[in-house]
Amino acid sequence: MLCPACVKEMAVIEVSDVEIDWCASCGGIWLDEGELELLSGEKDTSNPVNKALKTGQGRTGNKNCPVCAKKMNSTELPVVPPVEVDVCPLRHGIWLDKGELEKIMVCLKNDELGKLISSTFKA
Ligand SMILES: [Zn+2]
Ligand SMILES: [Zn+2]
Repeated sequence: MLCPACVKEMAVIEVSDVEIDWCASCGGIWLDEGELELLSGEKDTSNPVNKALKTGQGRTGNKNCPVCAKKMNSTELPVVPPVEVDVCPLRHGIWLDKGELEKIMVCLKNDELGKLISSTFKA
């Protein structure tokens, strides 16, 4: 799969039994649909973060989905401070810039996984 930010081949890395695509060049992470819930263990769809990801509302961003090449939506997640992620309008998954996954994990109260992720992807 090609990185939507720098169009380089991404590496597949396993974190907590979930295979995620990681770009060694920019540090961004692609999560297929449902992988964030798997990682965080937070399946509650009424959780504001999950809800925002499911709706995927937002302005059209400038990155293309690595699966279908459609322009993704910049969706602001209701965390503090807000994190803006790119969501495929066809729900293929989400794109996180470097460091955003850790922020989301901490906001989902999964500090342990946040630490594991930052040590896995430290560059
Ligand atoms: Zn990249
Ligand atoms: Zn897509």
